[in-house]
Amino acid sequence: MNGIEVDNLGPLKVVHFYFPKTDFRAILVVDNAALGPSIGGVRVSPSVSTEEVMRLARTMTLKNSVTDLHHGGGKAGIIADPKSPHIERYFRLFARQIRDFYDYIPGPDMGSNEESMAWIYDEIGRAVGLPEEMGGLPLDKLGATGFGLAECAEVACPQAGLELRGARVAIQGFGSVGKAAAKFLSDKGATIVAASDTKGTIYSSDGLDVKKLIETKDASQSVIHYKEGTVYKPEDIFSLECDILVPAASPDVINESNVDNIKARLILQGANIPATKSAEEALHKKGVVSVPDFIANAGGVIMAAMEYRRKIEREAFDAIATKIKTNTKLVLERSIKERLLPRQVALEIAQERVLRAMKYRESL
Ligand code: NAD
Repeated sequence: MNGIEVDNLGPLKVVHFYFPKTDFRAILVVDNAALGPSIGGVRVSPSVSTEEVMRLARTMTLKNSVTDLHHGGGKAGIIADPKSPHIERYFRLFARQIRDFYDYIPGPDMGSNEESMAWIYDEIGRAVGLPEEMGGLPLDKLGATGFGLAECAEVACPQAGLELRGARVAIQGFGSVGKAAAKFLSDKGATIVAASDTKGTIYSSDGLDVKKLIETKDASQSVIHYKEGTVYKPEDIFSLECDILVPAASPDVINESNVDNIKARLILQGANIPATKSAEEALHKKGVVSVPDFIANAGGVIMAAMEYRRKIEREAFDAIATKIKTNTKLVLERSIKERLLPRQVALEIAQERVLRAMKYRESL
């Protein structure tokens, strides 16, 4: 249908916005709202496409379902440079256009943050991931997703034949998620041996000092300026020696070109859709445990949903730990028992819940 593929879940809405005076475009996808109003981030990038937003919105449907949040899945894209001097205007214009789409609650994503959510909230009174001053639980500042990844690792390590204490971790993408994952994983005794960003990879078999690495990244814009390590190209992170690999940047980075080089025994999918379907299958065949995105990286949206319900920080962290540990255990145990890919098991659980809710909803 008009180049937009639909299936038994959605998408419910795909909306394009064009603002000729400011010459920017935006996309809104509400994938499914049977479980409640959809929650999903606003991605800002010059290259974000309708297809990407649709795939990300579907991931949110599955993530919000499997984590039992009583929210559907949606996502938005603003096609612009997040560093544009006009960015506040773009957010405000976009917000005014989505005012009446009550089945979509915007949150932060790549290229957006607490400040951008504050602009949207100021316009339409609806957004999550707000600054503390506005009653928000600033999920990136608190490291909600990285915290969840470390909780996930605790349960997944034994399934991959690893001990988290002393495990060597490589993190691809050292932004909000990557930095927080490094902090919470090292708090649990793991050793961060590699981290990367768009400029390159830094590696040390003795381990990187996480505090210093975060300071270096914040001060100089890149991990490669960290002194005590060897610098490699960004893509080299996929072939370095490690036990746990955390992709925490963009989609499809683990693919046919690098999957055979991966040494890790456990992959925690910090980014959304970081591996292609065939790469996930190849990893499974090799015996590598890969915890799917919508199980492992749900920390951010769990915190957002808790903020929406006016819960406090402690309650949000407790909910993240409980939900992610329970789901990781359920999915990995069933995957071993039924000899299915973890993603297949997680998909079945998430879809079943959405389809059950859809039976009660005439228009969804
Ligand atoms: P961010 O913009 O803060 O950080 C992204 C980092 O990845 C940056 O350091 C960037 O330099 C790096 N990067 C980009 N392309 C790269 C490449 N090719 N090689 C190496 N590094 C690269 O974004 P974020 O909020 O940390 O989100 C990262 C991913 O996690 C996204 O896929 C996002 O959808 C997903 N995610 C984020 C959250 C959240 O709470 N922020 C929650 C769930 C999922």
